[in-house]
Amino acid sequence: MKTLEKVQHSHTKNASKYVQEVYETVKVRNANESEFHQAVKEVFDSLVPVLVKNPQYMRQAILERIVEPERVISFRVPWVDDNGNVKVNRGFRVQYNSAIGPYKGGIRFHPSVNASIIKFLGFEQIFKNSLTGQPIGGGKGGADFDPKGKSDGEIMRFCQSFMTELSKYIGPDIDVPAGDIGVGAKEIGYLFGQYKKMRGGFEAGVLTGKGIGYGGSLARKEATGYGTVYFVEEMLKDSNQHFKGSTVVVSGSGNVSIYAMEKAIELGAKVVACSDSNGYIYDPNGINLDTVKRLKEVENKRISEYVKDHSNAIYSDQCSGIWSVPCDIALPCATQNEIDEESAKLLVSNGVKAVGEGANMPSSLEAIEVFLQNGVLFAPAKAANAGGVSVSALEMAQNSMRLSWSFEEVDCKLQEIMKNIYRNSKKAAEEYGAPGNLVVGANIAGFVKVADAMIAQGII
Ligand code: NAP
Repeated sequence: MKTLEKVQHSHTKNASKYVQEVYETVKVRNANESEFHQAVKEVFDSLVPVLVKNPQYMRQAILERIVEPERVISFRVPWVDDNGNVKVNRGFRVQYNSAIGPYKGGIRFHPSVNASIIKFLGFEQIFKNSLTGQPIGGGKGGADFDPKGKSDGEIMRFCQSFMTELSKYIGPDIDVPAGDIGVGAKEIGYLFGQYKKMRGGFEAGVLTGKGIGYGGSLARKEATGYGTVYFVEEMLKDSNQHFKGSTVVVSGSGNVSIYAMEKAIELGAKVVACSDSNGYIYDPNGINLDTVKRLKEVENKRISEYVKDHSNAIYSDQCSGIWSVPCDIALPCATQNEIDEESAKLLVSNGVKAVGEGANMPSSLEAIEVFLQNGVLFAPAKAANAGGVSVSALEMAQNSMRLSWSFEEVDCKLQEIMKNIYRNSKKAAEEYGAPGNLVVGANIAGFVKVADAMIAQGII
């Protein structure tokens, strides 16, 4: 081995050792938080070449600092149900990293919410927000409350109790929550109303995803789903492929899923399957989105009801079965780890050409490996689903300026942002020796800006 190569080899060995040591510490200090470990591992696995090129990140203990949230808040959320029973849930807000802006990230209401889930989401959010090019730090929150089957009154009382505590820690220049699973326009409205009451003033910039009539942004509702499709279209174009004429499978039937389907159909794709947590529908004629919107956005019903209006469609129990439906493009838009190794292999054997993650961490580490090994174009969540938080940042900008942009204006900015995220991720992957690997590219492009800002601001 030549001298230069030897030196390079030893630097790589040192960096790998450092990454492994920090990762082992993360596992010990955050025992039983498997989702959090997974999110950290995915990022860390990309960073060795960055550390070789920038040893100051090791000297400044950037990895040790970046995995430790600046603040974790856990709180009691007591509320009274319609029968007068007192209920108690657990609320969280993880204020992860404010190196490049106020904490920003959604609130999730789902029975599976725990510290591991909120920490993995908050950790991912740091790099996603950095990728958007907007001045926003990373955070996430939620509660193990299940909005399913609850009356409007119960949801309102829960949101009020949740915000009574959360309001002590957030603000337009401190921490700006938004929606996520189980938190849509209705919940954001109740949360905003309570914040306003607690603070005694109209601080529109404290939450995003607000109703259009009181400070919300046009195109915020559509932003994550549309953004995912814009990102994937950009990725496809590089290999001379398009949504037009493709068969697409989209999991979930919530906010991200519905608007991913809408944009994919608009671009000329045929979406043949979607799901909820109970099961999935397959419609060989192409999903009728008006029916899905009516069932999910208006009537709050299960996706199984779709087949009542569309006799050609088939409903199957078990939502994970959706990955057995042959498609050119798969867009997982429901929840974490919904594609495991087996589902990934099934997608590959059925000829999938591209996967775009609309949900957060929907593919397990093993599933990602299957896609990459088999030449499937893969758009990782922190890049592909950054459209939602990007438009949230545009909502904050409109609130600060006290004006509203048109739908077209916001949509146009969203398209530009998604194209930039794609270009920057692709460029970083090439620069650090992993051309075509957007997992590596997105992790590096998101990380470097935050790491440099942390160093510039000293040991705090
Ligand atoms: P949502 O409107 O609440 O919809 C979630 C959808 O996923 C529903 O169809 C739900 O089915 C399904 N789902 C939830 N948990 C599931 C589980 N354990 N197994 C199978 N299906 C499940 O939420 P969303 O806002 O679309 O969020 C979906 C994903 O996108 C999440 O990973 C979220 O973190 C991510 N994301 C959202 C945004 C945003 O702007 N909203 C931005 C970036 C990333 P049920 O109705 O049966 O529960």
